[in-house]
Amino acid sequence: MAENEGRRALTRLSEEEEMFRGTVRKIALKEIAPLVREMDESQRMDAGLVGKLFELGLMGIEIPEEYGGAAGSFFQAILAVEEISAVDPSVGVLVDVQNTLCINALIRWASEEQKRRYLPRLAADTVGAYALSEAGSGSDAFALATRAVKRGEEFVLNGQKLWITNAKEAGLFLVFATIDPAAGYKGITAFLVEKGTPGFTLGRKEDKLGIRASSTCELVFRDCAVPAAQMLGEPGKGYKIAIETLNEGRIGIAAQMLGLAEGAWGHAARWAKERRQFGKPLAEFQAMQFQLAGMATKIEAARLMVYNAARLKDSGAEFLKEAAMAKVFVSEVAEEVASLAVEVFGGSGFVKDYPVEKLYRDAKIGKIYEGTSFMQLATIAKLVLGRV
Ligand SMILES: Cc1cc2nc3c(=O)[nH]c(=O)nc-3n(C[C@H](O)[C@H](O)[C@H](O)COP(=O)(O)OP(=O)(O)OC[C@H]3O[C@@H](n4cnc5c(N)ncnc54)[C@H](O)[C@@H]3O)c2cc1C
Repeated sequence: MAENEGRRALTRLSEEEEMFRGTVRKIALKEIAPLVREMDESQRMDAGLVGKLFELGLMGIEIPEEYGGAAGSFFQAILAVEEISAVDPSVGVLVDVQNTLCINALIRWASEEQKRRYLPRLAADTVGAYALSEAGSGSDAFALATRAVKRGEEFVLNGQKLWITNAKEAGLFLVFATIDPAAGYKGITAFLVEKGTPGFTLGRKEDKLGIRASSTCELVFRDCAVPAAQMLGEPGKGYKIAIETLNEGRIGIAAQMLGLAEGAWGHAARWAKERRQFGKPLAEFQAMQFQLAGMATKIEAARLMVYNAARLKDSGAEFLKEAAMAKVFVSEVAEEVASLAVEVFGGSGFVKDYPVEKLYRDAKIGKIYEGTSFMQLATIAKLVLGRV
């Protein structure tokens, strides 16, 4: 009885989940931690590290075994993003976009032939990118202007995408374009575009405030011909793919921000125990203890929200409200905890010799991508007020 009750606790992990988390944590500390500062400064993801993430099965967590994946759960993907982001949120978003957006979309909407062609590659060596946003369409994503015109057995793409995560590393791009602008959102269609397709080039790489090792680029399509067989799902149903993948992906971003907050808290707590002022460690001052306790409490609430949304998703239950709430709340917690961590470090928190200033910069993105906090609040308002 007591054991069953325990299992129902959201943060109680199964043996398999516990082992998986432990493995990812070890990998993050051994393989990622030594590279964090250099990758942030050079604004480049270490190629060897990306290879290792594939080798370790972290780039194809939910891909079924028959396609060469790890056959894990969405919850495991969330655990991986959390653990990795505690060390480096840039690597966290690389793994997140791969698993919660690209692979998720293929598992749900790809034809058997597309699955056989792409899932083994996504599990083995191919990074995915998700290209929805454009200069004129961010929050209003379905106002996108990239055109796909049918010409015989192919579609010809013209247009530009902006802000595309993983663009530098990616071999496969999930691109949203309209086949009928007059049809509004019902013209939006998804295509699988491989790197190197004639007419498709990368544009400018952004010079960012945070998550600097994660590449964010413009994509340019000029008369880029894509075989009709590369369409993902049905014509005019791309909006559904975009909405539904982002609904799930949002939990991944909440997990990224949760990991970031945990990482920042750990650094702050260790510092408070080591750093001495007025003859004793900072952690012996009650004011400092209360700040650390307050942060830990918010992180616990954040973790419960993320795990609940992820477990709802895995169980097939409705999770839209919980996912939106988790993203809003956890990105606030991440910003607050990272900011306090900088203060706990004092002057040392303000310089690059210590890890907290980077986490403070990295935290800002949580409120912006995969739907800004205002857009999440709009979704939440519709759902909660609609029920009154
Ligand atoms: C580092 C980074 C990585 C990204 N990665 C990807 C990616 O991989 N793929 C992809 O497709 N996109 C990606 N994006 C794009 C991201 O999703 C958009 O930036 C985001 O959706 C916001 O769109 P916008 O920048 O056009 O801002 P806008 O939509 O112009 O919003 C500006 C402000 O106005 C507010 N606002 C807008 N509409 C309303 C409204 N109706 N009511 C109240 N407030 C409103 C917003 O909340 C925001 O505060 C990325 C962005 C960044 C910065």
